[in-house]
Amino acid sequence: MTNEDTLRWLERVADVLHENAAYLTQLDSPIGDADHGTNMDRGFKAVRDKFPTMGAMDSSTQLKTVGMTLVSTVGGASGPLYGTAFLRGSAAVANKSELTSADVVALLEAFLGGIVARGKATTNEKTMVDALTPAVAAAKRALNEGVPLAEITARTAAAAEEGMKATIPMLATKGRASYLGERSIGHQDPGATSSWLILRSLAEVTA
Ligand code: ADP
Ligand code: MG
Repeated sequence: MTNEDTLRWLERVADVLHENAAYLTQLDSPIGDADHGTNMDRGFKAVRDKFPTMGAMDSSTQLKTVGMTLVSTVGGASGPLYGTAFLRGSAAVANKSELTSADVVALLEAFLGGIVARGKATTNEKTMVDALTPAVAAAKRALNEGVPLAEITARTAAAAEEGMKATIPMLATKGRASYLGERSIGHQDPGATSSWLILRSLAEVTA
């Protein structure tokens, strides 16, 4: 994965989050404050403004730019969470322009690590961690099997989608949705959904 591919991934994420802004906000209505789509779209709109300068950066610096931009432009919980995720992902591939499959998996593992470090959630709490944890596990398994990057990222996205759907029956115990207690049950978590979209975008650009 070259730095051009990394940039294509980030551009795809910006487009997909923009296209799905209303959907993400709708998911955040019954169990949150109806702003997840707006938050993500605002953050990636600010990232989009930096795309013209990002072609000259290595992959690590591109990811760092996204992380810093999200931290400074997104007000909701998702800003610092995804901001930290991209910053940790950047650090995992420091100084690298061309990413191997192992680098991409290390990036994803660090991405999840950043969210866990920042938000202190474990699995089964109805958050983005529930999409990302099975996704990273699938990525590591696929890497160990030695399958091509396209297959690794496809399996990663599929596992994230499963994890996202599995948040529906969960009781939220982190974030705003936890204020609802039992009433959080029966709704898909918005953050798990944006995490799936981010990983699906990666699968698309590496296909
Ligand atoms: P806010 O909750 O501040 O309105 P958003 O609506 O943008 O922020 O993001 C909500 C999403 O953030 C939730 O759907 C959930 O996935 C995620 N989230 C909230 N708290 C945590 C946490 N402690 N750890 C991981 N993810 C979290
Ligand atoms: Mg919200």
